[in-house]
Amino acid sequence: MTEFTPGTVWLVGAGPGDPDLLTRKAERLIREASVIFHDALVSEGILRLALPGTRLVHVGKRAGRHSKDQRTIDALIVAAALAGERVVRLKGGDPAIFGRATEELEACREACVPVQICPGITAASAAAASIGASLTLRGLSRKLTLVTAHARAGEELSLDWARLADPEATLAVYMGKAAAGEVAAQLIASGAAGDTPVALIENASLPGERVLLTRLDLLGLSAGAALGRGPALILIGAAIGAASARPKTPALDDAVSAQQRRDEG
Ligand code: SAH
Repeated sequence: MTEFTPGTVWLVGAGPGDPDLLTRKAERLIREASVIFHDALVSEGILRLALPGTRLVHVGKRAGRHSKDQRTIDALIVAAALAGERVVRLKGGDPAIFGRATEELEACREACVPVQICPGITAASAAAASIGASLTLRGLSRKLTLVTAHARAGEELSLDWARLADPEATLAVYMGKAAAGEVAAQLIASGAAGDTPVALIENASLPGERVLLTRLDLLGLSAGAALGRGPALILIGAAIGAASARPKTPALDDAVSAQQRRDEG
């Protein structure tokens, strides 16, 4: 077991939200930290594992609202380590997936602060678990692509749609709620079938979890109608067709079937 030495930093994956989905190592580091810098996505249940006296610093960023910019976060982490603290930088999911880990690793290394990563369960894995499906499918879905559909303010979403429309791949779209309609339209324009199975999973593993099973040509409509304010992941591909979870949004189910009838009729 690695010791948590004062003056060092751990980038810790908090997983998708359910405290039971933390690794044992993550839990130990949280309990040993003297200060925890955490994201907006880290759930209350996980923060409660910290011992009384641990300083909890919210440095979260939510879409459109940056409470602290990345450089400020880097500087805070480094300063705390140089002051001799045991620093945990706690991030949703896995720190190495769409988690700005590189900037923080580099900031630490530049300041000669020892830094390590404790991996976590990423949202795509949690979302697949929520719908009871595999992300890959032998002989059919041989590839898993993790992609972010987050565009910088004022910029267009620029992705290689032709590659993403690969029928042999499962796509896990992070930060894709706002762009769901565009993602669907672009994939279809690049040759993806309109009836490709899609699952939208909001708040995967958390008490407010919502699941919607739909198809690519209905994704734009569904996302707008189904999703609340929580983080949501979009899974797209043949493997997702094996999902067993029933949608937990019956009203939306009706909206989608009405649309399907209109499309067919
Ligand atoms: N490092 C994280 C991803 C950070 S990007 C990870 O590995 O999971 C933030 C995006 O992750 C959100 O916009 C959403 O698309 C996804 N996400 C994170 N937690 C989620 C959850 N509990 N349920 C659904 N999607 C989630």
